[in-house]
Amino acid sequence: MKHTYDVIVVGSGPAGTCAAWRLAQEGLEVAVLEKATLPRYKTCGGGIIGRGLRVLPVDVRHVIEQDCHTARLNVFPMGLSFTTSRPSPIVSMTMRDQFDYALLSVARAAGATLHQRCAVEAVSLQHDAVTVVTPMGDMRAKFVVAADGALSTVARKVGMADGRLLIPALEYEVRIPQERLDRFRGVARFDFGLLPHGYAWAFPKREHLSIGVLSMVPRERELKRAIGQYLDLLGYRDATQIQQHGFVIPIRPRKGPFIDKRVLLVGDAAGFADPVTGEGISFAIRSGLLAAQSLIDSHLEEAAVQQMYTRSLADSILPELRTGRWLAKLLYDFPRLRSWAFSHQGQRLCEAVTEVMVGTRTYRDLAFRPRNLFTMLTSQWVKKVGGRSMPSSNRQME
Ligand SMILES: Cc1cc2nc3c(=O)[nH]c(=O)nc-3n(C[C@H](O)[C@H](O)[C@H](O)COP(=O)(O)OP(=O)(O)OC[C@H]3O[C@@H](n4cnc5c(N)ncnc54)[C@H](O)[C@@H]3O)c2cc1C
Repeated sequence: MKHTYDVIVVGSGPAGTCAAWRLAQEGLEVAVLEKATLPRYKTCGGGIIGRGLRVLPVDVRHVIEQDCHTARLNVFPMGLSFTTSRPSPIVSMTMRDQFDYALLSVARAAGATLHQRCAVEAVSLQHDAVTVVTPMGDMRAKFVVAADGALSTVARKVGMADGRLLIPALEYEVRIPQERLDRFRGVARFDFGLLPHGYAWAFPKREHLSIGVLSMVPRERELKRAIGQYLDLLGYRDATQIQQHGFVIPIRPRKGPFIDKRVLLVGDAAGFADPVTGEGISFAIRSGLLAAQSLIDSHLEEAAVQQMYTRSLADSILPELRTGRWLAKLLYDFPRLRSWAFSHQGQRLCEAVTEVMVGTRTYRDLAFRPRNLFTMLTSQWVKKVGGRSMPSSNRQME
């Protein structure tokens, strides 16, 4: 077995497979190391937002189970409901075992080598290479792309600074009769108010419903209760087949740097999930492609790769995540402000976030354009509370 490559990509999620595809396409010798046996289940709603599909460089339509052109946002207990539709899909529904494997197949067709059941256990940096230790023996490359997800072994072994905020999320795959499933056809549903600092979702798949709940509070104890309540609300508490899964989502990026000598962090390993929605596929794809392009453009020269990857993140993903975090704070840290915003500007809020989801606007547009959403929300709220002080957060931030 060959054990020396130009680039080793650790992890075959969207970040790793997109990086591997781009590198292989350019003729570099690339290996993808994946600890699981593929295709593997991944705890995820499997909702690919338009922003992700826009940057996806390859065609994987065959693994899209359903396109949702409509998003519905409900707010409990106020009984508010907002619906918005777009000509192009707002969220396209897939199952991650199929989606990730389709991306991997494209990368392999371009020339990438796959080693599955090959968990990276340790990493050592030499001045001109990186060695990874695996059950298949040591493997060496000029660079390693760490796409090994939220619990990234590679980042830990290299000793890269963290500072991410990992939040908990549950995903239930629920079998329901076809006629009930049809009621969800084409609609991505989001529900606020089941727990103070998070939301729930129901995503229709071909033969079942993926429902989930997340909380922005790292050690939230209410998730199980909230998802039980959600099942009740949807009328599926008695569903006989429910597969239950839980995992974490990193909604604040690492402190940085995102590259240490010859190791580049992408996707969840870097902490690039959206702070407002917890959606992580779109920036996983984008960061994987940016990492690959930095390696290609700099001809695998260490200093140039560092400079290019750092700059490309600073010009694209990082400012967007920073701004998204402010919107997330308004939405989740101040329940009274949120209730007020939904009652007075719910449709506008729903349209604005949908524009970001489909990729026609950015959080930065929402924040910095004249008559922007932030000013509109905060100034009207300040008027409302008059001389009284601004609301204080009742959430325990970590
Ligand atoms: C409950 C839940 C629901 C979610 N719903 C959505 C959603 O609907 N839409 C959305 O966009 N995002 C969603 N997310 C977030 C999304 O799943 C992640 O942001 C996304 O998967 C990140 O992609 P990635 O490629 O960085 O990492 P991953 O997809 O996590 O892939 C990492 C890969 O690395 C492998 N690996 C790990 N360690 C090693 C090792 N040591 N050696 C070799 N291989 C290793 C893993 O097996 C895995 O295949 C959800 C997350 C959760 C928890």
